[in-house]
Amino acid sequence: MMSEIKYDLMILGAGPAGITAALYGQRLGLKTIVFGDIPGGSSYMIEHLANFPGLIEGTSGTQFGTMAFQQAQKEGANFTLTRLESLSHNDNRFVGVDVDGKESKALSAIVATGRVPKRLAVSNPNMGGVHFCSICDGPLYRGKNATLAVVGSDNTAAQHALTLARTADKVLLICRSDTLKMDAVHKDQIRQQKNITLMTNTEVSGYDGQKYVETIAVTAKEKGQQDLAVDGIFLAIGWRPNISALNLEVQKTAEGYLETNEKLMTSVPGLFAAGDIRDTDMWQVLTACADGARAAKYAAEYLEKLTHP
Ligand SMILES: Cc1cc2nc3c(=O)[nH]c(=O)nc-3n(C[C@H](O)[C@H](O)[C@H](O)COP(=O)(O)OP(=O)(O)OC[C@H]3O[C@@H](n4cnc5c(N)ncnc54)[C@H](O)[C@@H]3O)c2cc1C
Repeated sequence: MMSEIKYDLMILGAGPAGITAALYGQRLGLKTIVFGDIPGGSSYMIEHLANFPGLIEGTSGTQFGTMAFQQAQKEGANFTLTRLESLSHNDNRFVGVDVDGKESKALSAIVATGRVPKRLAVSNPNMGGVHFCSICDGPLYRGKNATLAVVGSDNTAAQHALTLARTADKVLLICRSDTLKMDAVHKDQIRQQKNITLMTNTEVSGYDGQKYVETIAVTAKEKGQQDLAVDGIFLAIGWRPNISALNLEVQKTAEGYLETNEKLMTSVPGLFAAGDIRDTDMWQVLTACADGARAAKYAAEYLEKLTHP
């Protein structure tokens, strides 16, 4: 291995995908450095981590993230606890510069920087009772005769509304325009579901409540503004992939997610992607961890070929 390159593997992001990649990377004998300011990544936002086999009900995302972080640390992974400002690629090496201007070099890299949900432009966007994942947080309202609002008009919004309609009393599907961007199948399912009320040409302009959302202000064309009582609100107005640190040419989808082959390698040799940042069809802790494990395995395979051609 070239002398000035200190690491075999550089990982961007310390969420479930990045931590798992670090754990597997270390166990595969790779000298690994991880950049990421929040151990556990987005999972710290999860009140009750759902859909992870073996975890008893009530485990929070923070507990999960902390345990996974400690486990990878114990294996010897080097967590910087800072963000990477830029990642570039030159002559088979990856150069990372952190927010303090410190440079690190590695022969391979895994991007596991995740994505962030878009929020509504209201005065209190982070209020309790505002959710982004119906299969994760929908069960919080089970058995509570809840009225839940879903904001959005695409397939994700449709899936949220249909998932929530199974257990809520009433679901208000609120769409800004009069055109639904969802598949015909979803449109039919929404129309047939008796407890879903479709509100088109309607915008949510505010939330109100003590700690949790109790009412939302909606403005409908021709009807003006009104307040609606709700127990929770699920936003499906899009996500933003965290790709600002990538200072290299890499193939992405129109929305900015990283495209990968079956071995999770991007269009840049030696650069892998794992978890929510990848062009994938499931955004869960479990799938992010699985991606992290596989990306580390394929990074090791890549390094073996690079160093022993
Ligand atoms: C409110 C909420 C509830 C959820 N509930 C559940 C649930 O119950 N069950 C479930 O399975 N899933 C749930 N999810 C989804 C789950 O959190 C994600 O799928 C998972 O965290 C993705 O892991 P990841 O490692 O790919 O990305 P992330 O967890 O997003 O981690 C990526 C990390 O990288 C950091 N980063 C970004 N740029 C850089 C950079 N330049 N340098 C260093 N670090 C960087 C980010 O800040 C972030 O901390 C929920 C998500 C949300 C938002």
